[in-house]
Amino acid sequence: MDYEIVIGLEVHAQIRTASKMFCSCPNRYGAEPNTLICPVCMGYPGTLPVPNKEAIYKAVQAGLLTDCEIAKFSKFDRKSYFYPDLPKNYQISQYDLPFCSNGKIQLSGKGFSGAMLPDKTIGITRIHLEEDPAKLIHYAHQSGADYNRAGVPLIEIVSEPDMRSADEAYAYLTQLKEILQYGGISDCDMEKGQMRCDVNISLRPVGQKEFGTKAEIKNLNSFSAVHKAIEYEAWRQANILDNGGKIRQETLGWNDEAGETYLMRSKEQAHDYRYFPDPDLMPVTFTDEEIEAIRANLPELPAAMRARLVADYGLTEYDSQVLTSEKAIAEYFEKAAATAINKKILANWIISELLRELGNAKVDITESKVSPENLAELVNLIEKKVINGKIAKDVFVEMFATCAKAEDIVKEKGLVQVADSGAIREFVIEAIKANPKQLEQYKGGNEKLIQFFVGQVMKLSKGKANPQMAIELLKEELNK
Ligand code: ADP
Ligand code: MG
Ligand code: ZN
Repeated sequence: MDYEIVIGLEVHAQIRTASKMFCSCPNRYGAEPNTLICPVCMGYPGTLPVPNKEAIYKAVQAGLLTDCEIAKFSKFDRKSYFYPDLPKNYQISQYDLPFCSNGKIQLSGKGFSGAMLPDKTIGITRIHLEEDPAKLIHYAHQSGADYNRAGVPLIEIVSEPDMRSADEAYAYLTQLKEILQYGGISDCDMEKGQMRCDVNISLRPVGQKEFGTKAEIKNLNSFSAVHKAIEYEAWRQANILDNGGKIRQETLGWNDEAGETYLMRSKEQAHDYRYFPDPDLMPVTFTDEEIEAIRANLPELPAAMRARLVADYGLTEYDSQVLTSEKAIAEYFEKAAATAINKKILANWIISELLRELGNAKVDITESKVSPENLAELVNLIEKKVINGKIAKDVFVEMFATCAKAEDIVKEKGLVQVADSGAIREFVIEAIKANPKQLEQYKGGNEKLIQFFVGQVMKLSKGKANPQMAIELLKEELNK
């Protein structure tokens, strides 16, 4: 039987704020466990939560960036459950009146497999704000809890069951991550658990209208794991259905090593969270004017930025796509472009040389030893014909390793390009004289050998000859 896969995603993203959601503890990753805690986020009796205005503001921004309606009246609710990651025995969340609802995200670009996706809109059911529970760490015979994470502001973005393939889910996540990062809402570093995803998946025979029973795969922590888990789970469910079985509504985990989902709990064990309004927190209200003021100050999204880089700097769609793949790369480019003469060559250098070297060295672009200003200077040295492109690559390697400025390296090592036609002609004559066989072949019609002679001239000039001039002079001398 042919089945259609139906997917809805629930994504959790930690909001980037200075302090936690309901107390003044720092919201920071990587500190010693249980050093960023206080009586409020440890759930001591008698403490009271005070909402973080910035977190609410950013949750609303996330909603506006995904075309959601913003609630003028919303509230916080308690979601009751008993588990060591939650010292209060309830999580402050939002139940029936979340900040944002009825939004959408436009899919575009490529899926995981590299195939272009059809233009398609994925509905956003809601975005609500809650507090992150503590992080539990499990060892062989004991477990630890790190409450530094308890109380970190967290948004949950729930999609409609609108995706139909692992590729679409991948593209949706990529798009969502871009929006949250560009919006300055979340850093979305999945390795730090700042973005986590639950996948809801069901199958239905092609042509059937009603959805099938879904299973939920919990806590996937990479986009490729999401992709793999969907493909595996679709296969598992198809097998059951093909053999006349029924899908049970279950919560599953994902074992990345085995490449399999496994049962965590069945529906009978489903939680009853007994949501009720948190009596310690006032409802949150917005006027139309307040919502419009937030809308007016929204940051630029990748799609708009991509179009702007093409229009303002004359870049190709491809260059623009690569440069905006991360906000930090786009920011680097714009900083460098402020002083670079040739923006297109600058883009080439960032895309090919800089990103490759950063990737090899596993260094983030924000920590690049080659600053945007210095890269612009290097590109300008080529543009002004002070050095040629080949020498520039050597200079770049040195810059990357040492932080030194392009101009200083060029001066110190005497790399200034030879653009004096008398000097280059001498190299040309010498190269021709030293290679009579090639000269004969060239004269016999093998014109490709000009490249061989260019190579010889470069060797003789220690790479410093201006290549265009070398070619012109070679043509003159060879055709004499
Ligand atoms: P639950 O009550 O089990 O949490 P919800 O209706 O709140 O279910 O939906 C949770 C997520 O599951 C949403 O992202 C939604 O789009 C998705 N979903 C709902 N029904 C299906 C289905 N039949 N197949 C796949 N995904 C679904
Ligand atoms: Mg759910
Ligand atoms: Zn605290």
